Amino acid sequence: MSDHALTLPAGAAAAIRAHGSETYPHECCGALIGRDGAVVEAWPLPNTTEEGPRRRFLVRPGDYRAAEQRAAALGAELLGFYHSHPDHPARPSQYDLDHAWPFFAYVIVSVQQGQPADMTVWWLREDRSAFEAGSLIEERGEPVSPEAAPAGPR
Ligand SMILES: [Zn+2]
Repeated sequence: MSDHALTLPAGAAAAIRAHGSETYPHECCGALIGRDGAVVEAWPLPNTTEEGPRRRFLVRPGDYRAAEQRAAALGAELLGFYHSHPDHPARPSQYDLDHAWPFFAYVIVSVQQGQPADMTVWWLREDRSAFEAGSLIEERGEPVSPEAAPAGPR
């Protein structure tokens, strides 16, 4: 375990899971935009490429430019990318390793039978020999339990 950590607001975590379900059995892919290790937006990249639906995670130059423009529009930075592993564990594949860039966070969500399952985050080692698991910190959404809700008028 490295000392890398990525904070995901509840809305961004939900958006990644929903994107993975939506594109199942194909992979989904998107950009993680934020600052200082905290995501402000999970921004979906198109699921259909010139080669058809995404089967393997690959960020193309056009995706990269679009993600950087989106980050600039939000006054934030491109922190990394997310993608799904349909019916596979939330661990990077050799293909992911071969196509990863240093310094970026890579979030992977496993989607089993169309349902989102484990979600993990990884960083490439400086020597690019492997990924290291980081800590994915999911922020909780608004409290929804009756005890936590503000008391209404009586
Ligand atoms: Zn992958």
